[in-house]
Amino acid sequence: MVFFKTPVIKTYYRPTDRNNQVANDYTENKEAGLCSEKIRALGLCSGGLDSILSALVLRDQGIEVEWIAFETPFFKSDKARNAARMTGIPLTVQNITPIFLKMLKNPNCGYGKHMNPCLDCHALMFRLAGELMRKKGFHFLFSGEVMGQRPMSQTRSSLRYVEKHSGMEGYILRPLSAKKLDETFVEKQNWVNRHCLLDISGRSRKPQIEMAKQYGIKDYPASSGGCLLTDKIYCMRLKDLFDHQQNIRERDLELLRFGRHFRSKNNTKLIVGRTQKDNENILNYYDSDKDIKVQVTSYPGPVLIIPDSPKSGDIQLAAAICAGYSKAPPDKSAEVLAITPDRREMIKVLPIAPSVVKHLLI
Ligand code: SF4
Repeated sequence: MVFFKTPVIKTYYRPTDRNNQVANDYTENKEAGLCSEKIRALGLCSGGLDSILSALVLRDQGIEVEWIAFETPFFKSDKARNAARMTGIPLTVQNITPIFLKMLKNPNCGYGKHMNPCLDCHALMFRLAGELMRKKGFHFLFSGEVMGQRPMSQTRSSLRYVEKHSGMEGYILRPLSAKKLDETFVEKQNWVNRHCLLDISGRSRKPQIEMAKQYGIKDYPASSGGCLLTDKIYCMRLKDLFDHQQNIRERDLELLRFGRHFRSKNNTKLIVGRTQKDNENILNYYDSDKDIKVQVTSYPGPVLIIPDSPKSGDIQLAAAICAGYSKAPPDKSAEVLAITPDRREMIKVLPIAPSVVKHLLI
């Protein structure tokens, strides 16, 4: 495979006059002075090697590239921020939790192995990126997707689905696989030089690793991982949350990452820290105006919280479970402090052994 490192596009064209909203937006932006003659592209950035390479390939063509990364409690933008620092490519980070959650509850194409709605996730991200593209006068969008790399989201038909459902048909370029894919509107306009794009496909990472060497990129994260919607335990808890709670807040989703989670017969959620770090993380999301916090006072033990208003009887159960995970002797009453939004209460309970409440674990 040949990598072209310094191609230059000499001629840029306005989009043809066709019934295409995006082209019209581009023209309007141009007339409003938002677009210069310089071709500008906005990329979705995960922070992985493929994202980085796709941007560098375009930058080599003289295209001005920027990135956008989206954040929710399921995936963060840390890797994208690192990639931006490493390459100097400007990055916009946008939290999309409410709109993502709406899609996640009922994705058109369903879920992958767990609760990952990868096709609709990509379509949504490109749609939102398209809004920024129009607003800021970028010419097109790009991503580091490689055809055939992932069984569900990167097949030819998946890439087509994403284009169609994002409303950005023709305006999405995948520089690493472009030559394996149909020519896009972007290429037809000569905004990019198709000859200098790549023809990578499949699961092998060798071409990308070779390119990384050529670009002198040494530190890049592993190609997959990082999305909690592909994590079995997290998704079991998420499903339980969807089944029991109407209004879901961001912190409810964050809390799913920490501790042991129980669902009582009253349908109340109890979260018990597993380690000191867990306790700290749980307390970070503890809301003293709404939650109950329970902790054994006379022996070392975990923090337990009951998020939102509990039903009667739950505090006693919570105290006994909390004591069961503490160092309190199993056959003697333990003193437990329960802090509700309006009072502090000392309770004496007999610890419940973890094995006895195992069936309540989510
Ligand atoms: S793994 Fe997660 S972030 Fe990635 S496409 Fe799928 S749902 Fe979206």
